[in-house]
Order: sequence, then structure tokens, then C-alpha cells
Amino acid sequence: ATGQDIVLSTEGLTKEFKGFRAVNGVTLEVTRGTIHALIGPNGAGKTTCFNLLTKFLTPSAGSIRYNGRDITGMKPADVARLGLVRSFQISAVFPHLTVKENVRIALQRRKRGDSFDFWRSETVLRALNQEALELVEAVGLSDFADIPAVELSYGRKRALEIATTLALEPEMLLLDEPMAGMGHEDVDRTAALIRRVSANRTILMVEHNLSVVASLSDRITVLARGQVLAEGDYATVSKDPRVVEAYIGA
Ligand code: ADP
Repeated sequence: ATGQDIVLSTEGLTKEFKGFRAVNGVTLEVTRGTIHALIGPNGAGKTTCFNLLTKFLTPSAGSIRYNGRDITGMKPADVARLGLVRSFQISAVFPHLTVKENVRIALQRRKRGDSFDFWRSETVLRALNQEALELVEAVGLSDFADIPAVELSYGRKRALEIATTLALEPEMLLLDEPMAGMGHEDVDRTAALIRRVSANRTILMVEHNLSVVASLSDRITVLARGQVLAEGDYATVSKDPRVVEAYIGA
């Protein structure tokens, strides 16, 4: 890939906890339009790496670039404004509001800051409702539009989180174990949703379910002991003896 095809990259990303390098010099490149998975045995540094990307943690060394711009140490809200958004944060959903209301609030959040008096414009309100309904439909929740979020199944709650995230019109989504805690049916539905959502977006995800990783990912980076062990498509990395050993040895 040429330089401009890279949406997100890290260089020598490192995080130390009291001298222990949980992430140790990770250099990563995510190509525009791909689904890229970060995998590895427990303790490999996946979560730490992800938290560095979304600035819940500050790196001890190294840098992060998004669309060529150095975003190391930038606030999550500012990074989100640039189009890089982390999804699957259950806290973002209001449990006692309906699915449609949750999506509408997310849309309003994005649109606040427009210069006109938005609350008094009926046209805008109607357009907003329409947009909310379209997003609800896009994530497969049409039948649940008027149901309070709290009553949704776990998998559908995560679909709602995707909808509220999409309301921000992200160019790139970071998904933190999107399938965690899900049964088969929800996993299948969520995988289909991620595939649909990826059509015009770049996705980077940490995921433990390797069959999901195999079926969804264009490219996989395998971490072990804080370092990149292997990189490539699923067929390549899953046959790599170092990867096999890292998983067995973990
Ligand atoms: P993974 O997500 O791949 O399971 P983590 O990023 O959670 O790996 O952890 C990588 C290593 O860093 C582990 O050995 C873990 O114990 C250590 N670690 C993670 N967070 C902290 C912390 N806040 N303080 C000390 N050690 C940590």
C-alpha cells in the first residue's frame, strides 16, 4: 500500500507499567477500507494497545498517526472529531430511552454547534427523526425502535451502540471485543452488521473469537508479549509456527 492508503498507524508504540513493557515497540499500519484485527494470547498487550489508540492511556514512547496527522496524546473527543471513534461503550446508551430516542440524541450531539437555531426548525427535527429511523434500520433494529434500550438483548444493545456510534459519522471504527459475552445468534447478527458497516469505513478490532476474526478480517496483527509476532491474512498467520506456539504456550 502507498502512504496515503494508511488511515491509522503506530510507530514504536510502547507502554510501561512500573518497568514492565505491556506494549513494546508496536508498529502497525491499518489500510483504508479494511477490517483489521488485533489478536494474541492473554496478556499479549491487546487491550493496552487499544487503550493507547483511544487515549485512555498515554504511551511511554512511540507515536500514533491518523490520516498522516500525529494524534499522540490528543483528547478522545478531539480524535473523534477527526473521524476516529471507539464503539461498544455501553455507557453511551441511555437505558430508559427507546432505541429511536437514543439514536436521535446521538445525532443531535453531532449536530449541535450548527449555527442556526436548530430546536425551532421543524424541518430539521423531521429530518432528524428520519435519519434516526434510517440508522435504526441500518443496524437491524426496526422492530425494536420504540422499545427502551434496557429491554434489548445483549447483542441488540451492542447493535444500538453501533447505531449511536455511526451517528457521529466516523471514518474509522475501533471495536473492542465486539462479540464478548454473546451467544451464537448475536455473534452471527453482529458479524453481519460489522461487515455491512465496514462497506465504507475502516475497522480495527480486538476480538477473541477466532472464527469471527477468520471470517471478517482482511488483515490480522498477532501480538505476543507486547510485540508484533506476525501479520497477514488469516490463512497466513494461523499457519505461522510462532503464532501457533504463542497460543499453545499461553
Ligand atoms: P491482553 O489484552 O492482550 O490480554 P493486556 O493489554 O490486558 O493484554 O495486558 C498486557 C500485560 O500488561 C499483562 O501482563 C498485564 O498484566 C499488564 N498490564 C495491563 N495493564 C496494567 C496496569 N494498569 N498495570 C500493570 N500491568 C498492567
